[in-house]
Amino acid sequence: MAVNENLRTPIVCVMGHVDHGKTSLLDNIRGSAVVSGEAGAITQHIGATEVPIESIVDKCGDPGLLNKFIVPGLLFIDTPGHHAFTTLRSRGGALADLAVVIVDINEGFKPQTIESLHILKQHKTPFIVVANKIDKIHGWNPQKGAPFLASYNKQSEHVRASLDTKFYEVIGELYNHGFSSDRYDRVADFQHNIGVIPISAMTGEGIPDLLMVLLGLAQRFLESNLHYDAEGPGVGTVLEVKEERGLGTTIDLILYDGTLRKGDTIVVGSLGEPIQTKVRAVLKPRVLSEINVEDKFKQVSKVTAAIGIKISAPNLDGALSGGSVRVATPETLDTVVEEVRSEVEDVQIDTDQS
Ligand code: GDP
Repeated sequence: MAVNENLRTPIVCVMGHVDHGKTSLLDNIRGSAVVSGEAGAITQHIGATEVPIESIVDKCGDPGLLNKFIVPGLLFIDTPGHHAFTTLRSRGGALADLAVVIVDINEGFKPQTIESLHILKQHKTPFIVVANKIDKIHGWNPQKGAPFLASYNKQSEHVRASLDTKFYEVIGELYNHGFSSDRYDRVADFQHNIGVIPISAMTGEGIPDLLMVLLGLAQRFLESNLHYDAEGPGVGTVLEVKEERGLGTTIDLILYDGTLRKGDTIVVGSLGEPIQTKVRAVLKPRVLSEINVEDKFKQVSKVTAAIGIKISAPNLDGALSGGSVRVATPETLDTVVEEVRSEVEDVQIDTDQS
C-alpha cells in the first residue's frame, strides 16, 4: 500500500474544557513534527497545521509503517477556542472528520468536556479521548516523547497504580455519559468502543500513540468520506472573518473539497442573502525562511483541499463564521446560492440548540 492520491487529508479538531491542554497538545504536535522534520516537514496553514504521514511515521520510530498508510497525513484545526468552533460544518456533518477530546486526568470531566461529547455524538464524528497531564501524577518519571506503554512500564508500581485509578475514573465518567470505552491498546473495535490514551502534552508522552490511532481511525472508518474531486469546484467552511491591513475584510477558511482559484466566483454564507463575490487573492502563510518579507501572507493562484487559507474579496463584511464557501460558475450560480442559504440555516439551528 502507499498514499492514495484520491484521498484528501483528514481534518482533525481538538476539543475539551478550558485549561485541559488543547493549545499545548497542538503546540507539541507542531513542535515535535518540526523537530523530526527531515522525514517530511509540517506545513503551517491559515487556521490549521498539516502533519505529513512521513513525519508521523518518523515520530513513531518504525519506517515499515509507511506502507500501511494510504492517507497523506493529518490536518489539525488550530483554533480550539474559537467561538464558532462548535458550529463548524461541512456538507451534512461536522467540518472535522475526526476529533480528539482532551481531559485533564487529575481534574476529570468538566462542563465543556461533556458539551464536546454531545456535539460529537450529534454529528456522529468518530473521536478518541486523551487523558492529559499524566506527568503531574505524583512521582511520575517523565520519558520525553515516548509511546505511552514504554513510559508506563518505566514507572514505579505505586505511580502506575495511581495512574490506573485516575484513568478508570475517566472511563467511568465516559460510561455515565453513554460511551463505552477502554485504554486504546485494549480496544478491538473503535467503532463501538472509544479509545482513551493517557498523554502528556508537556512531555510528549503518548503522542506517538495518539497520532497512530488517529491515522488508523481515518483509514478504517473514513475512507469513503475522504475521496474527493481535486478538479471539482472548491467547497469550504469559514473559520473566521478578519480585518487585515491593506486587504480589508478577509475570510479564513478550511477548504475540504475541490479547487479554489484566484478570480473564481464564490458564494459565502451570511445572516442575510448569501454573498456573491470574486476572489481577489488566495493567501497562504509565509514559511519561516521568508519571514523578513513585509507581508505576512503570500499569494497563490490556486489551492486544492484539504487546506487552510485566507481569501481576500470585495463585500465580505457580512460573512458568517461556520458558514460555507462554494465556488460557482454562471451555470451553477443559482443552485449554489440555494445550497449556501440552506447550509447557513443548519448552522443557525445548531447554534440555537447549543
Ligand atoms: P487550553 O485552554 O485547553 O488550550 O489549555 P492550555 O494548553 O493553554 O493549558 C493550560 C495550562 O496547562 C498551561 O499552563 C499548560 O502549560 C498546562 N498544561 C497543558 N498540558 C500539560 C501537561 O501535559 N502537563 C502539565 N504539567 N501541564 C500542562
